[in-house]
Amino acid sequence: MNGVVILIAGVGLLLVLSLVLIGVFVWRDARSRGMNAAGWALCAVFLPLFCGLALYLIARTGRSAMRCPQCHQPVSSEYTVCPFCGTELKLRCPSCKRPVEYIWKICPWCSAELPQRTPPVAEKKERWLGWVLAMSILVPLLMIGAIVLSSPFDHGGFSTVQDGPYTVEELFEVQPELVEDTALNEWLEKCQEDGVYLLWNRQVLGGKDGDKQTLVGYLYLRGYRDVELDANGDPNYWGRVSLKAELTGIPDENAEPVIWFVRLRANRAGTPELLLNGSESQTWLEKVEDGQLLNDIIDFYIHAE
Ligand SMILES: [Zn+2]
Ligand SMILES: [Zn+2]
Repeated sequence: MNGVVILIAGVGLLLVLSLVLIGVFVWRDARSRGMNAAGWALCAVFLPLFCGLALYLIARTGRSAMRCPQCHQPVSSEYTVCPFCGTELKLRCPSCKRPVEYIWKICPWCSAELPQRTPPVAEKKERWLGWVLAMSILVPLLMIGAIVLSSPFDHGGFSTVQDGPYTVEELFEVQPELVEDTALNEWLEKCQEDGVYLLWNRQVLGGKDGDKQTLVGYLYLRGYRDVELDANGDPNYWGRVSLKAELTGIPDENAEPVIWFVRLRANRAGTPELLLNGSESQTWLEKVEDGQLLNDIIDFYIHAE
C-alpha cells in the first residue's frame, strides 16, 4: 500500500509541475505576442486535460512574437520596415536593393550572390514548447498507468460458505422453517428443467467481521449425478466480489435433485455467476428482493464457517 501512495503522490507532483510549466510558458508566450497573458495562463492551467493549452496554441496562430530591434514594438515577419520607427527589418540585396530573406544565397530578382549575414530580427526559438507538449501528453499517460498499476480498488477481504448437497427433504430437516417458506417452495416448483438454479438475496448484515454485504442463496441442481460444487468469491478489478459457483456432474435424468446453501460476505458483493460443467447454458438466477425471504434463516448462516 505504501508503494501505491508513493506512486500516486509522484504522479500528482508531476501533474502540478507540468501545470506550472505550462502556465509559465503560456503567460510568457502570450505576453510576447501581445495577447491576454493572465487569461490564457489561467485557461491553460485550469481547463481539464490540457484543453486550455491546445486552445491557446490555436489562438496564437498568426500572432508574431517578433519585436523591432530598435523600438521593441511587436512586428510581423512579413514587414520590411518597422511601422513604428522605420527601422529596416529585412535584408536587402546589395545589387538591386530589393528585400531578401536572410537564408537566401542568391537574389531571386537580379541573381546577384548574397553575402552571408545575420538577420536583423529573428523569431525567438521556442525552446519550451517541446517540453510543454511532451508533458501534456506524458502526464495523462502516467496518471492512467499509475491507476492501472496501483489497482486501488481493493476488495478488502471476503468469505464464502457452502453447505450441502442435501436432498430437499434433508434440507427441510436441517432448516425446518423452510417448510413454511412460500417463496422458496414456489421457486422449487419452477425448477423443472435439468440444470442449476440459484435463488439469492443480498443485503448488508452485521457479523463478527463487521457489517458486510451478504449474499445468501440456495443452489438447486436437477438431472445430474456425481455432482460437485465449488463456490468461491471472485473479486474483480474494481474491488467488487461476486459469488462464482462452479458445478460439475454427469447428466442423469434419474438422479435425485440436490440443494446447497451458499453464502458470500464482502464489502461490495456483485451479481453471482453460475457455471454447470463450465457453461452457463443450463443455469438460471433468480433474485429475491430485500427483506422478503430468507431473512429468518440468514441469521443462522451469517456466522456459519
Ligand atoms: Zn521599430
Ligand atoms: Zn538583387
